[in-house]
Amino acid sequence: MAKKRKSSFRGKVNKDSKRQTSGYGYLNLPKGISVFNPEAKSTVKLDFMPYEVTSKRHPDRNVEDEIAIPGSLWYKLPFKIHRNIGVDNDKVVCLTSIGKACPVCEKRAELIRQEADKEDTDGLKQSKRNLYCVIPLDSKKHDAEPHIMDMSQYLCQEEINNTLEEDEEFEVFPDLEEGLTMKCRFDESNIGKNKFAELGKVTPVERKEQYTEDILDDIPNLDEVLNILTYKELEAKFLELDEEDVNEEEEPEKETPTRKRKTRDEEPEEEKPKRTRKVEEEEPEEEVEEEKPKRTRKRKETQDDNNKCPYGHEFGKDCDEYKDCAKCEVWDDCGEEQDKK
Ligand SMILES: [Zn+2]
Repeated sequence: MAKKRKSSFRGKVNKDSKRQTSGYGYLNLPKGISVFNPEAKSTVKLDFMPYEVTSKRHPDRNVEDEIAIPGSLWYKLPFKIHRNIGVDNDKVVCLTSIGKACPVCEKRAELIRQEADKEDTDGLKQSKRNLYCVIPLDSKKHDAEPHIMDMSQYLCQEEINNTLEEDEEFEVFPDLEEGLTMKCRFDESNIGKNKFAELGKVTPVERKEQYTEDILDDIPNLDEVLNILTYKELEAKFLELDEEDVNEEEEPEKETPTRKRKTRDEEPEEEKPKRTRKVEEEEPEEEVEEEKPKRTRKRKETQDDNNKCPYGHEFGKDCDEYKDCAKCEVWDDCGEEQDKK
């Protein structure tokens, strides 16, 4: 077909379809980059690739040790999502991921202050995840080229951390020239109808081939991959769900929020990963290094009688809050339950 004029679909359809295949509306996949979704019950060799950090607010940022500062190479991007937001039950990036006020978190804080049901507040919790760039070396379904891998903190990074604890030497694994290939066994967690892969074991092995800096040109900038809504966009989407009654005052999207929950900030999850993919932010903040999973906050108090949590936490409420969650066989049901709230 002769191409005469530039179709208005150009650049849109493919982009859109790629996003579909990613399964996550919150990922803006760069051209030519696919998502690597590990298959359960499989073992695959992955080279974790470093990317050049551009954000001044990377959650792992540590100026003293030169970790994740702009211009440095780093191997993961931690972020948080809220689930079941809006009429489409979308997963959205929590704005605290970039150190900003988040309407969903504010709503949760407000509910907590009002001593609302824990179920209501827990449904608004964040889930921690990480983006990685991996090259699958021996996957039947994936070419050996850079892919984005998006995994729950508890189903992946925790296991990587365990492995790193075994031997400090492993920490070079994402290095271009001295890195290690991570032989990853993905187990199947099977909850209800959903099956998903969780990283069961990682064995670092020597790479057959190392990389040169040239590869960096092909590595997506993880700081730019997340689709992050503005406060107002997220608020509008969020309110659609839980208040039909706001229709009249439904601010199309660009308006000063009248009913903005101006909660005096007391972030439910008391951590503030500062991350931003675009970086216009001026001042990096130093108090950013709480990437340590601290899902043991408060909450031990409650333990329901009809509790279905096999680990004694609260079913439908504590999802992703404990280490146990990583291996929990009712994780998904629990998450779903939580999302319903
Ligand atoms: Zn949030």
